[in-house]
Amino acid sequence: MLAFCIGTGLHLARRTCSSIAAMNLGEVVKALNGIAPLHLAESWDNVGLLVEPSAPHHVKNIMLTNDLTTDVMEESIKSKVDLIVSYHPPIFRSLKRITQQSWKEQLVVSALENRIAIYSQHTASDAANGGVNDWLASGIGEIRDVKPVKCCTKSASGGIFFLKSPNCDFPDQLEKDIQILAKTDSGILAAWNGNHDMSHELSMANVSSENVIQLSTLNHTMHNTGAGRICALEHPLTIESIVRNLKKHLEVDHLRLALGRDNCMQSEVHCVALCAGAGASLLTGCHADLYVTGEMSHHEVLDATQNGISVILCEHSNTERGYLRNMKRMLGAQLSGVNIIVSEKDQDPLCVV
Ligand SMILES: [Zn+2]
Repeated sequence: MLAFCIGTGLHLARRTCSSIAAMNLGEVVKALNGIAPLHLAESWDNVGLLVEPSAPHHVKNIMLTNDLTTDVMEESIKSKVDLIVSYHPPIFRSLKRITQQSWKEQLVVSALENRIAIYSQHTASDAANGGVNDWLASGIGEIRDVKPVKCCTKSASGGIFFLKSPNCDFPDQLEKDIQILAKTDSGILAAWNGNHDMSHELSMANVSSENVIQLSTLNHTMHNTGAGRICALEHPLTIESIVRNLKKHLEVDHLRLALGRDNCMQSEVHCVALCAGAGASLLTGCHADLYVTGEMSHHEVLDATQNGISVILCEHSNTERGYLRNMKRMLGAQLSGVNIIVSEKDQDPLCVV
């Protein structure tokens, strides 16, 4: 693809034109939202575009990371990235000032000084069909049936709407979502395809919600989206073989295992309940032979094992990080010519010594 360099003086100063293509930040955000729609995120989460340099912001180089640490930020600056996609949101609690006092504040300062945007998907990516939990499930073994532990209660909103603005041109990014049915002197009658949340998408495209009247709603359940996964295995597997499969899938040498009461390494597993990251609150009470997650407390593990359920703990981010490779592939397919790299500095802070 033909390269082009447009931007502020600062933007041009630290880059040279190359064969890498550039895209507007808004287009990249749209692609990210297509992979993990933000309306799937938990209400307590802080997802989406968290740091945005002044416009125009063109994205040529993207860094994918599980956690945005100081090391990853330094790596991003060296790699001249324009956007960091961090699975965990580096800004979670409210910041009341942006100084040099805390490492989180320093990250924001570094990002803006180097014109780097930051985007996070977190629980939207966990819940998405084909997201982090489905990636984790694919490392267990052959699965006959998989469904969320907690189904997503939100449904996509499609339907017919009227836009009180007869001369409005819908942005290119919404073209595939909107079908114009009629244009009148007072506005435009259009259909929304319902794949994404309509009001959110329109607001992202700077179409004012005050001008939109939704006439009918077509809600449909979003299959295979939600928190965690319950996996029915095609054939029963021993705990030993699942441990082996997971080590290979997660590329780790060690896992922590708590055998359920009366279980041994050769016990057969028919059903696995899993949750990437910290899964205790979601998995507690789930009917399964085995729980797989990143971390659980001593007492939560004890509760499971005394109920005859074995537990495999892999360390929090080890259950998430490998998904970045899938993310790179999916995003690359949508952002032709944009350079996407996975951080080499990003790693789980814990290791077995
Ligand atoms: Zn996590």
